[in-house]
Amino acid sequence: MGMKAYRLGQNVQVTESKAFRPNADELLGFNRDFAASFPDEGLALVPSRHMSVVACMDSRMDIFQLLGLAHGEAHIIRNAGGVVTDDVIRSLVVSQRRMHTREIILIHHTDCGLQRVTEDEFKHEIESECGVRPWWALESFRDPYQSVVQNMRRLKLSPFIVHKEHVRGFVYDVGDGLLHEACDD
Ligand SMILES: [Zn+2]
Repeated sequence: MGMKAYRLGQNVQVTESKAFRPNADELLGFNRDFAASFPDEGLALVPSRHMSVVACMDSRMDIFQLLGLAHGEAHIIRNAGGVVTDDVIRSLVVSQRRMHTREIILIHHTDCGLQRVTEDEFKHEIESECGVRPWWALESFRDPYQSVVQNMRRLKLSPFIVHKEHVRGFVYDVGDGLLHEACDD
């Protein structure tokens, strides 16, 4: 009752509650509480650790929390998968050229949504429902370690990323909270 189920690809069953209510009004209340004892007054625009993190948008990962970072210490750039796309390059170029960051950390993770879909089936689904086949890549992958390595290589090959001496890639285990380094051998 009240639940609509539909197929996403072949393997993933997603349910959508018809009783969904938007969150924004409640969150505005939380924000007023936050601002009442605002802890971040006076933080500088330039990240104090001079670093950027590129990570998946997964809701189980709080990047500041899992890395022990404080607000104001790092840029956090997120998208589905934590993939180095042209737009991530854009953000990193601004980060390096205008806000003096010199280190990049990539974080993918276990049980990523992008491991559950394939490029072709996802694009076919969209084309059949929306009438247009996406012109962008889904960037799905099977192994998060291989995916991190691929994305580190993209950074190293980019002519726009001029500071690439300090690039490291990790896979976050959503089961126990630990990071494991992915090495490009
Ligand atoms: Zn993910």
